[in-house]
Amino acid sequence: MTTNDLQPLIGMTLDELRSVCTKVGLKPFAAKQMAAWLYARRVTDIDDMTDLSLKARAALKQAYCVGREAPLTQALSKDGTAKYLFRGAPRRDVEAVFIPDGDRATLCVSSQAGCKMNCSFCMTGRQGFHGQLTAAQIINQILSVPRSEELTNVVFMGMGEPTDNLDAVLKAIEILTEPWGLAWSPKRITVSSIGNIEGLRRLLDQTKVHIAISVHSPYAPEREQLMPVERAWPVRSVMELLRGYDFAHQRRLSVEYIMWRAVNDDYRHADALADLIKGTSARVNLIRFHVIEDAEMKPSSPRVMEAFRDRLNALGVTATIRASRGEDIDAACGMLAGKNRQNQS
Ligand code: SF4
Repeated sequence: MTTNDLQPLIGMTLDELRSVCTKVGLKPFAAKQMAAWLYARRVTDIDDMTDLSLKARAALKQAYCVGREAPLTQALSKDGTAKYLFRGAPRRDVEAVFIPDGDRATLCVSSQAGCKMNCSFCMTGRQGFHGQLTAAQIINQILSVPRSEELTNVVFMGMGEPTDNLDAVLKAIEILTEPWGLAWSPKRITVSSIGNIEGLRRLLDQTKVHIAISVHSPYAPEREQLMPVERAWPVRSVMELLRGYDFAHQRRLSVEYIMWRAVNDDYRHADALADLIKGTSARVNLIRFHVIEDAEMKPSSPRVMEAFRDRLNALGVTATIRASRGEDIDAACGMLAGKNRQNQS
């Protein structure tokens, strides 16, 4: 068996670690010891799990490895943001973005290599779909990014649509939040989605993480041009679903709204957006469009964005303009492209 055939232990839940124990002949309680070594002490080698016997470690090493992999490359922005390339699907790697901000440090993680959703304004969408990330590959981004210990928040807003790889994303959330895992509060985690209704329902029922919905236009025909997903999951139905959940107390709902000049940035859109999200307690994040290759659409001006924000605020909607980070290294919203390894050679 080569190193590549070994199965990673990171990304496994406590139940899965118990199954590993059964397979290699360890007592079930060794699963908790392994979880502590993997997620609390963050070891990178099975030999570092020193409260397991030498025999137990040898048995584990026959079929398993810890599975930690350092990023392949990194790019640093002048604003302190850092973008890291991690191994993803065979022909496409994935990116994670580290965003320091005062006493906070957020990691924007990828959930898929590429994406199937084909949003017209997004570099990831343009590259097509190249494969699902495993829970191990998602957790590896969080554990293996430089300055991992400083992380205060994780947002699933990198490459891919998290609800389209929900089993792996739910497993990663379980590892992040359970006491045997990283023991984070779910309030430190946000999952962003285009609004896959069944996926969202599962996410809402099974976790307490914050939710962000990409809206970008309150009008169905316009949204469909930007996000073909509107045909399958109309944003009106998504809002209907969200009205059935409590976002005023334990968890937060935000609406992501990228602004394009003369496309979705007038008062008519602001009024319709306020109407669309009525009764959901959603806050609105207004995001400047980061121009990608061959894009015909242009970003709204700062003055227009401020007027749009003020209009929403006047209508009783909390709206803020999100600061743009990492644009000089193509790490800002919609710019993540990963790397095609075929093109490297
Ligand atoms: S915006 Fe999100 S859902 Fe749309 S193509 Fe890009 S990664 Fe996929």
